[in-house]
Amino acid sequence: MGLSVWEVGGFHRRPHLVVIGGGIVGLFTALFHKRSHPRHHVVVLERGPYPSGASVKNAGFACFGSPSELLADIRNEGMDAALNRVEERWRGLNELRAELGDANIGFEGSGGHEIYRTGGPLYPLVAEGFDGLNAALRPIFNGPVFQWSDEMIGRSGLSGVDHLVRTTFESPIDTGRMMETLLRKVSSEGVHFRPNAEVIFMEDGPLGVMISLRDGSHMEAGQVLVATNGYTSSILPDLDVIPARGQVLLTEPIPELALRGTFHVDEGFYYFRDYQGAVLLGGGRNLDVAGETTTNDGTTEQIQFALEDLLRTVILPGREFKIVRRWSGVMGFGATSKAPLIERISPRVSVAVRLGGMGVAIGIRVARKAAALLHD
Ligand SMILES: Cc1cc2nc3c(=O)[nH]c(=O)nc-3n(C[C@H](O)[C@H](O)[C@H](O)COP(=O)(O)OP(=O)(O)OC[C@H]3O[C@@H](n4cnc5c(N)ncnc54)[C@H](O)[C@@H]3O)c2cc1C
Repeated sequence: MGLSVWEVGGFHRRPHLVVIGGGIVGLFTALFHKRSHPRHHVVVLERGPYPSGASVKNAGFACFGSPSELLADIRNEGMDAALNRVEERWRGLNELRAELGDANIGFEGSGGHEIYRTGGPLYPLVAEGFDGLNAALRPIFNGPVFQWSDEMIGRSGLSGVDHLVRTTFESPIDTGRMMETLLRKVSSEGVHFRPNAEVIFMEDGPLGVMISLRDGSHMEAGQVLVATNGYTSSILPDLDVIPARGQVLLTEPIPELALRGTFHVDEGFYYFRDYQGAVLLGGGRNLDVAGETTTNDGTTEQIQFALEDLLRTVILPGREFKIVRRWSGVMGFGATSKAPLIERISPRVSVAVRLGGMGVAIGIRVARKAAALLHD
């Protein structure tokens, strides 16, 4: 069927920029490019009926790293690299809050915690490095960051835990609201969001980038930004981006739940928080790293059983609970690097991917850097 002259000049006009992937990175990159180039036609192609990647599947932690995670980073990468990443995460969270507004991202301000299980190996390591870590972080946060708060263990109803560290700089958020707000903002500022538009192939040619979609249609763009994170290997198999599935569950509301805020366990391998009177818990990828190196949606008995065991023994000891929801999301990791990959890979194609488990925090900063890479 032929296109009308109005369609050709409107919906089908050649985009200056196509962003592939409508997660936090893709949407913010499109927004920043549109702001600096108001006359450009900017289109976001999203595989799902709405943003359907990790940005709507995560646990909603506005976090910059727990003490055990940060001390491990310092040991593995050195002080400067570890602190730079904390600063990026902290700045990203502040920019996200300023851009979208606390009410619109469900920022609760209820704090973050790390718990140390009885007899576990982490407490001595953290206790030894604790003061040094706080001193190193002080210039970034302009104050003390972590406090020992063992009295909160009982108050939060936890069991099998000997020590607890708290920070007021971390909080749960509602990433569903965050993404809805972002999508509305992007559309209201003139970016075209096209759902159900999965890209299966693209080629950087002399005059533009040819893009083929799953529905058999094709389009040409002046330039392309790939923001498909954990799914990147389906269109760019040679990039160092490894999919990493994370599994999550949600209990039904627990009467008089005392737990408030975000909690990290076992160096971040597990994480939980309160959500509308219920417990949201995720993690356990370390139990089957090979099996979880996948872009498939789904949950496994092994990992869900481990999550339920943590609920029974540590988070809700002696309490009845029912699981009302289970889901998974796909992150993108590098083989060796924890840094995001933001670069031009051919004259008209750039990528902004590999956000690991911290895209809520750094997504907006990655998008700013990606937008700066694009042509005028
Ligand atoms: C279980 C879990 C818990 C997490 N918890 C936290 C947390 O508490 N705090 C935190 O900071 N981070 C967390 N993260 C990480 C964070 O969610 C991600 O780093 C972030 O959302 C990545 O954003 P993104 O835009 O790069 O990718 P995504 O949100 O995955 O966006 C990529 C988009 O591309 C689309 N897409 C893929 N392929 C194609 C294609 N071929 N054509 C068109 N579209 C395509 C996808 O549908 C998706 O919408 C968690 C992640 C998971 C999975």
